[in-house]
Amino acid sequence: MGSNDKPPLVAILSGAGISTDSGIPDYRGPNGLWRRDPEAEKLVTYEHYMADPAIRRRAWLMRRDSEALRARPNAAHDAVVRLERAGVPVRVITQNVDGLHQLAGLTERKVLELHGTARAVVCTKCHRRSAMAEALERVAAGEADPACLACGGILKSATVMFGQRLDPVVLGKAMAVAKGCQIMIAVGTSLRVQPAASLAGIAAEHGARLVIVNAEPTPYDPIADEVVREPIGSALPALLDGIAATSGRAPAP
Ligand code: ZN
Repeated sequence: MGSNDKPPLVAILSGAGISTDSGIPDYRGPNGLWRRDPEAEKLVTYEHYMADPAIRRRAWLMRRDSEALRARPNAAHDAVVRLERAGVPVRVITQNVDGLHQLAGLTERKVLELHGTARAVVCTKCHRRSAMAEALERVAAGEADPACLACGGILKSATVMFGQRLDPVVLGKAMAVAKGCQIMIAVGTSLRVQPAASLAGIAAEHGARLVIVNAEPTPYDPIADEVVREPIGSALPALLDGIAATSGRAPAP
């Protein structure tokens, strides 16, 4: 690519597999922990959560014990940050709620969290948001089911629970990125959970180069330009550093 060419917009669609090296298991996927354990699934199903205080008390204990909030970004998250710092326009659309892309240093507004974030809580009545860490301090101090400090409403993690709709604003932005990107890299996602999976197809239909980095086959492999089966922790850095080298504007720090 010549120096006068505009660098490509790179969209990264990330799923549970990108956080495996950070010690976070797949909870939500078709074979994820929640789907295999009906009792655990109730803790993250909106209807049960809202109806049953016992479910909420267990959900708070699960959040308290969750590894996700203590996890650190890994080489794959770091590689996305290097791509941004090399001057390549990048947007991340993630199915993960662990916040590790931002923690690695990626600009917050460049991350679209389809399933929300486990790092915040939201009031189901007045919609006020606050930090998960703050709510967990209240749990540690003895509140089994901390209520909203503003209105007394039921608090939940700011994730999209089973039975809840995806945020239409976030989804709309993700659609626009899928339509407008020149390269779409689907990484660590089974591409079997909709509507997230369809974003890969939308990108390909709009002319993007579709690259799939995943250990297992996905339904979108047949339309992909490239399928990479190597471990994400080494494959994604290699792929993104290659794009940065050919399309970047500034040397990586
Ligand atoms: Zn409230």
